[in-house]
Amino acid sequence: MQGGMKDIAWHDHKITRAERAANKNQKPCMLWFTGLSGSGKSTIANALDVALHERGYHTFLLDGDNVRHGLCNDLGFSDAGRVENIRRIGEVSKLFADSGLIVLSAFISPFTSDRRMVRKLFPAGEFIEVFMDTPLDTCEERDPKGLYRKARAGEIKSFTGIDSPYEVPPHPEVCLDTSTMSVDECVELLVTHLARNGLIR
Ligand code: ADP
Repeated sequence: MQGGMKDIAWHDHKITRAERAANKNQKPCMLWFTGLSGSGKSTIANALDVALHERGYHTFLLDGDNVRHGLCNDLGFSDAGRVENIRRIGEVSKLFADSGLIVLSAFISPFTSDRRMVRKLFPAGEFIEVFMDTPLDTCEERDPKGLYRKARAGEIKSFTGIDSPYEVPPHPEVCLDTSTMSVDECVELLVTHLARNGLIR
């Protein structure tokens, strides 16, 4: 137990998680986009966010770079920094889901153990791991932020896929390869997955 935790009580809220979701006429869930930089996490998460928003769902999108500007601006890219980054994002995502939202989180999240830690925060069936299975070659060719070029030049250390590992998810709920699928196809597949699993109407 961390310092002082034994003196902190957990308060049960009068409004339950289910009641918050019911007011929004939806079921909460968490779509966790994981994959290499440039694999399309942000692009697809944003496109799905738009598609769900237009259908009247209440959603929230958490995205790697934005979180590192605020909530996690004290963390670096060491293994320990990455673990803490994902832990915080998982906890924040859980709070958003507890408020009844459909949460979309787009983070490289290279380690299986970290993704498992976040999965465990959610009731069974509510955590949907979306593995962006786009080949490294394609990601590096796209290099939307010029980061692969810098990593190859040694200007960025511990870059996932170059000199830091990416652990492929063993059992993702959804796999998307954006080198062969269009943005619209990816969104359609995700919407179908959510509907088939009773998470959207
Ligand atoms: P990540 O969030 O995984 O780092 P981004 O979404 O920021 O990846 O970058 C993916 C890049 O690939 C964007 O520049 C996007 O326009 C481009 N792209 C090309 N085709 C696709 C596709 N089918 N799906 C997603 N992104 C694509």
